[in-house]
Amino acid sequence: MKKNLLQEGIIPAINYHLWSKCNMNCKFCFGQFKTTSHDRMLSGKMSKKESLQLVQMLIDYGFEKITFSGGEPTLCPWLPDLLKLSKQSGLVTCVVTNGSQITTNWLEKNHPYLDWIAFSIDAIDSDVNIRSGRCLASDVKQDEHYYMQRIKLIKEYDVKLKINTVASKYNMHVDLNDFISRVRPHRWKVFQALPIANENQAYSSEFCISLKEFNAFKNKHHEALKATCIVSESNYQMTNSYLMVNPHGCFFDNTNGKLNYGSPILKVGVEQAMGECLYSVKKFIQRGGIYDWKSENKIENRPKKITLSGGVASGKSTVGKILAERLDYSFKSIGQKTRQIAEQRGLTILEFQQECLNNPELDKEIDREFSNECNAATDLVIDYRLGFKFINSSFNIYLKVSDDTALSRLKKANRKNETYHTLHDRNDCFVQQFKNTYNIDFTKEDQYDLVLDVDDMAPDEIVDRILIEM
Ligand code: SF4
Repeated sequence: MKKNLLQEGIIPAINYHLWSKCNMNCKFCFGQFKTTSHDRMLSGKMSKKESLQLVQMLIDYGFEKITFSGGEPTLCPWLPDLLKLSKQSGLVTCVVTNGSQITTNWLEKNHPYLDWIAFSIDAIDSDVNIRSGRCLASDVKQDEHYYMQRIKLIKEYDVKLKINTVASKYNMHVDLNDFISRVRPHRWKVFQALPIANENQAYSSEFCISLKEFNAFKNKHHEALKATCIVSESNYQMTNSYLMVNPHGCFFDNTNGKLNYGSPILKVGVEQAMGECLYSVKKFIQRGGIYDWKSENKIENRPKKITLSGGVASGKSTVGKILAERLDYSFKSIGQKTRQIAEQRGLTILEFQQECLNNPELDKEIDREFSNECNAATDLVIDYRLGFKFINSSFNIYLKVSDDTALSRLKKANRKNETYHTLHDRNDCFVQQFKNTYNIDFTKEDQYDLVLDVDDMAPDEIVDRILIEM
């Protein structure tokens, strides 16, 4: 029976950096493996036979997806053999490329064995690409024409397209909204340029950007969100969230800002070699590593209404506002509506809540008015615990938070009087109120389309995750 690696705590997708050479020279590149320790290697580099043997071992171990990366993997003469072996063995295949070898001939030969091409595009202005080193030594310019020509071919051959963009000082000012909206890739992945000791460190002051700058780069691309699913990876998210193999057939990780290598897989086997490296399945899942690898573009079918539910301090409102901004949707909250009605009645919010407790009909009236407003509109993110019940055709999310995290959030928000006791009281009060009025338990997870455990997640990460899952 086929193993379920995820259930065993193993990342089911492999990134095989099979070829360290590249015909470009990006200053932020860490894929040239300058620090590979040669005493650990079988030989200087792997032969075609060894490379095929290695991929066969990964297949036999039960990996589900293989991404061939580099350097530039299309320069490896036996990449077609590896793709064929992987695809015929049932793996989902992907090639990360700078596009230089993507021609009709290359696609004609490889497309039957290729599910995804991840095309590295940081800018469509060739001057920006020259500054970062993402360019060929020849006269061919890496401009819009270069990229569009190859994208057209990829689409003609029906290979799914992912665009990988490294956000760095070189392209911070670049706006790719229009380009991405026209290209409509299946996924757009934006990385924060990652400094790695002895690999790209010499240029780190030239390319590194802060997390704030990275978020600003990502957030300004809200128009592109209408055309694709955007996934972003900060330096923290990229660290130890991949299962990677280097050109010499050793697993490696990127703990502590450097590349750390295990023993050759061909020598010690997958299990032992993998055990010598650090990786986190949780981080892999949190960075969106699991998605429907075989699916078509989900953007056309993106839900027009999204509801957020959860306990006190689960972050519904903060997450809802960011999500609405990223999707260019409006944000609505039942809390705002309740305050508005209280004001209309000349009551404080506390007086009004008391009145609601004594008179469930008042609650029903608020729900009716609020849900009618939401149901009549479109493109909405709605902070509403009962949204899953009253909002039509919505995607319903439950944000799950532990008491410890909820309490620490409340304390940070200067609600110093909150204790476990008051937190439980407030959560119980909501549960009781909805039970009395509607006989509904909003905490039952099977009523939602997506339940997220948000304890270790920042609001931006939660939004990234929601965008992947929808
Ligand atoms: S194209 Fe990719 S592999 Fe080549 S130098 Fe740039 S980042 Fe490195």
